[in-house]
Amino acid sequence: MSARKITVVGAGHVGATCAQRLAEKELAREVVMIDVQEGIPEGKGLDQWESAPIEGFDTRISGTGENDYGLAEGSEIFVVTAGVARKPGMSRDDLLKTNARIVESVSERIREVAPDSIVIMISNPLDIMAYVALETTGFPRERVIGMAGVLDTARYRSFIALELDVSVEDIQALVLGGHGDSMVPLISCTTVSGIPLTQLLSRKRIDALIERTRKGGGEIVGYLKEGSAYYAPSAAAAQMVESIVRDKKRILPCAAYLEGEYGHEGLFLGVPCKLGEEGLVEIVEVELTAEEQEALDESAASVRVTMEALAQMQG
Ligand code: NAD
Repeated sequence: MSARKITVVGAGHVGATCAQRLAEKELAREVVMIDVQEGIPEGKGLDQWESAPIEGFDTRISGTGENDYGLAEGSEIFVVTAGVARKPGMSRDDLLKTNARIVESVSERIREVAPDSIVIMISNPLDIMAYVALETTGFPRERVIGMAGVLDTARYRSFIALELDVSVEDIQALVLGGHGDSMVPLISCTTVSGIPLTQLLSRKRIDALIERTRKGGGEIVGYLKEGSAYYAPSAAAAQMVESIVRDKKRILPCAAYLEGEYGHEGLFLGVPCKLGEEGLVEIVEVELTAEEQEALDESAASVRVTMEALAQMQG
């Protein structure tokens, strides 16, 4: 099973790497990248297509600059990575306003060229940008989903694998909540081949791994200096796309628009989501400990603060 066409908006680090992963997995017959910068998407797209004979994929991959949505028409899925990074002297609020404007304009174009498509949001601040896309497209919540939890969970799993010196494949975990410092790793749902993590590691060690996961994005930025992580983020987005395109109904932690689940409504928050061909098929409600529910509530509160800041700026 594969999609007819998938469009990646933003041909930067995350977008271009994601496009390459989608093509290598042949998740669509055609992958298109769109960016506001002319030349970059065309050049990257051609370079990627030239890797097809070596990697052995037949997905046609290409890029287009100057915000040309003609090629995106009829796409079944849009992966949105468009945005700017925070520059020196730019406040968080300025960044929020700029990226919201970008995501709003991208969402308008998506609604025009592919009104039945599914949007996977990646741009930051993630939970807020997903909300902007939901509002602007007017799509139902089943078709606007944010990528954060798969990445945060992958980081957590990768650190546990290193700590225990076991295969990453045997580690199951769930990280919920907002994308950022307030994420909520569920210790009760973390197992190694079915064995509760608490039987293999002390709470102190688990807490240290959780802390590293919380700061995972910053750790990479600290090394790169300019720009942020993109290999793991693009892999996370591709995994979500795969579950949708192949109707696998995987349960993956994603940012979904809550309508009462986990005691919250009217905002995007990371929760376990079943993803299938219609997009968000179901939000799975797991029983949380009092400590986990409290952490999730705090996470929701911090997402609301940013939503309110944006609403005030938009006046
Ligand atoms: P990048 O700067 O390499 O790429 C962003 C691209 O967006 C650039 O090529 C830019 O030209 C393009 N762009 C800007 N405005 C546009 C518009 N209106 N239409 C189309 N394209 C436009 O950045 P990156 O490292 O690829 O990160 C992209 C976004 O993803 C950032 O907001 C980043 O914070 C976010 N991110 C999120 C997660 C997550 O877990 N959700 C993880 C990593 C990165």
